[in-house]
Amino acid sequence: LRHADVAVLDARAAESHIRVYNHAADPHRPERLSLMGDLKIAIEQDALALAYQPKLEPRTGRVVGAEALVRWTHPRRGFVPPDSFIPLAEETGAIRHLTRWGLRRALLQTADWAAAGHDLRMSVNLSVRDLGDAALPDRIDALLEETGLKPDRLMLEITESAIMGDPETAVALLSRLADRGMDLSIDDFGVGQSSFAYLRRLPVREIKIDRSFIRTLAETAQDQAIVSTIIKLGHSLGYKVTAEGVEDGPALALLAEMGCDLAQGYYIARPLTPAAFTDFLARHAAG
Ligand code: C2E
Ligand code: CA
Ligand code: CA
Ligand code: CA
Repeated sequence: LRHADVAVLDARAAESHIRVYNHAADPHRPERLSLMGDLKIAIEQDALALAYQPKLEPRTGRVVGAEALVRWTHPRRGFVPPDSFIPLAEETGAIRHLTRWGLRRALLQTADWAAAGHDLRMSVNLSVRDLGDAALPDRIDALLEETGLKPDRLMLEITESAIMGDPETAVALLSRLADRGMDLSIDDFGVGQSSFAYLRRLPVREIKIDRSFIRTLAETAQDQAIVSTIIKLGHSLGYKVTAEGVEDGPALALLAEMGCDLAQGYYIARPLTPAAFTDFLARHAAG
């Protein structure tokens, strides 16, 4: 399983008939419980994988980072998309184990690439339930020590809606993480209810413009107006701005023109296996 070709799995998942499990539509609680039992086993046995999607500077073509995305190939069900099992794992609390597993795996990989001369910043997604995990900052400190990485090599992505669900708790935990030198990124920016009153209280380093604004960027004047405004707003608040979901060349060219700092998307690369990511780095090393 661990040697499975994640890139291929990802392409298959993109054809959405592989939606083997639909959380929202499924009324069968026993099945959900068994899936969660299987996930727990998969975490314990290190049978999950991470795929890494490159983050690239549109103007220079340099690859400066990656986002780690969890991949689960179930022994009987096959590929289970994260959008299906993450919400379940959040409900049951298993997400905390998954987050810790993912942080360790991603940091070990980052250390491997650093040893090979690739100094990348790794982005890891936090879920809303992680924001209540008061032990998380110490855990991350221990992982940084284990891997010998500086805290600024780790970027933690969190959605606006996760923060706004319980802003006081979120601000408390995220501030503790940022105090230790980790960077925060606001994921899916522009689709959640945004409160600058709270964002202002957070040491945010990056905002990621939601892919719904990027998908039709080249064809839609309105999306261009929104995206260029978010970029200007982000910059005036001192944030780096990343665009996610870049699927075509014209969109990437527009983002470069608008001064967007980083871009991510299928046009640049799909989420890749570690080996495929290493190849990708080799091809973009000169950039
Ligand atoms: P996200 O954090 O917004 O991650 C970006 C998603 O967009 C990923 O889907 C990625 O594969 C996909 N994507 C990247 N480029 C493109 C593109 O050009 N076009 C399109 N249409 N999609 C693109 P994925 O891997 O299926 O993950 C879905 C969501 O599941 C993530 O959304 C995130 O919320 C969650 N997730 C994934 N891995 C983890 C994890 O390790 N921990 C937590 N807590 N959540 C995770
Ligand atoms: Ca993300
Ligand atoms: Ca996102
Ligand atoms: Ca999302």
